[in-house]
Amino acid sequence: MTIYQPQSSAAASKPQRDSAYKTALAQFDRAAQILGLESGLYEILRAPRRELTVNFPVKMDNGEIRCFTGYRVHHNTARGPTKGGIRYSPQVDLEEVRALAMWMTWKCAVVNIPYGGAKGGVVVDPKQLSLRELEALTRRYTTEITPLISPEGDIPAPDMGTNPQVMAWIMDTYSMHRGYSVPAIVTGKPLNIGGSAGRFEATGRGIMFTVREAYRTFGWSFDGIRIAIQGFGNVGSITAQTAHEMGCKVIAVSDIGGGIYNPHGIDIPKLRRFMKEHRSVTEFPEGDRITNAELLTLQCDVLVPAATENQITADNAAQVRARMIAEGANGPTTPEADEILLENNVVVIPDILCNAGGVVVSYFEWVQSLQQLFWEEEDVMHRLERIMVRSFHDVYETALRMDIDLRTAALVLGIGRVAEATRTRGLYP
Ligand code: NAD
Repeated sequence: MTIYQPQSSAAASKPQRDSAYKTALAQFDRAAQILGLESGLYEILRAPRRELTVNFPVKMDNGEIRCFTGYRVHHNTARGPTKGGIRYSPQVDLEEVRALAMWMTWKCAVVNIPYGGAKGGVVVDPKQLSLRELEALTRRYTTEITPLISPEGDIPAPDMGTNPQVMAWIMDTYSMHRGYSVPAIVTGKPLNIGGSAGRFEATGRGIMFTVREAYRTFGWSFDGIRIAIQGFGNVGSITAQTAHEMGCKVIAVSDIGGGIYNPHGIDIPKLRRFMKEHRSVTEFPEGDRITNAELLTLQCDVLVPAATENQITADNAAQVRARMIAEGANGPTTPEADEILLENNVVVIPDILCNAGGVVVSYFEWVQSLQQLFWEEEDVMHRLERIMVRSFHDVYETALRMDIDLRTAALVLGIGRVAEATRTRGLYP
């Protein structure tokens, strides 16, 4: 038997950083003021509807029992069941999950799909676990949050640190408890158990559909534009691949270990093949090594932060030399940075519009799972592009009409739609 030894907890060893929730609330307050939301509605929309914190044990490979903490937050259900990813990261805390759940509510409303917002997370570095430990953690976490998830009520999906395999374990665990297969309990599943064609690619493709439409709308030339991408996971790598296929030049990419820069354009298909056997993009030989901080301030046309929150802040926003920021990550820019970027005429395509492709195709996957009827990838991509283009124009026209920036316009549009649904439904009892 191992005797308990006090250790510094993940929370205690976490570096101080801006709270994503503070950012989400500041953004909400600004949009609510512009909308002139009545005070009751303001309070309803500002607060998470329900929150669950779970502490649960997992037996590790060495026989020891370790306790983990996880969360699931439902922000709002006015427009439908809640939808939102599950994040595995040592940095996860309740405030971050609250922020991400709130952004999901506005995002689903901006792209006009019938969902409210949710998010989940477990405080863990998945890279430190064996595959068996990861599976055990996932199955136990799923069981712990079962009171909140269901195919009709709340449907999880992948986020940072989770992937289609984790979704498969969630689906299997939930199905074992029910006694029959429930594929609609999660989206982002592998194709062979009812996932949707195009779901894995959806967020990155959606980002590039939006960037291309913005360029078209502004009358800017899209040919051969230079793109820098922070983060090379699901979102970053597919954004890079799509940009490459669209004829753009991806001049820099990074991951948590640092980045690489090649002014002639990185061979993205080659890098993606290379990454199947290597842990970090920094090991790729065809480029100069740079830091994440350097990547964010590179001279380029489009900067895509696709890693985590609070990357563009009051400290570095003035040094951003991109013409456009396309937010792949959720909450990568702080409100202070937004003001600086606005002053410097840097166009910001906000997260709740730009990275919504993931939840759009998750919605398609959910519909397919409920009906047990599957669509071709071409059909999925065509519908995705149509929704991203339409949503960009909805936001852009709101911005023009109200003389506000694109982030504020997206928030006004999304929050306005949720407010409208709340008024229509009325108050129970
Ligand atoms: P992922 O785990 O697949 O990849 C994350 C990438 O970011 C990795 O390359 C990692 O090394 C890097 N990274 C992590 N922390 C970093 C840091 N501090 N500095 C630099 N790089 C760092 O995650 P993902 O699914 O690609 O998600 C990335 C972001 O996109 C998150 O903000 C997530 O909420 C958002 N997002 C994801 C989806 C989706 O469908 N997966 C949809 C919408 C938004």
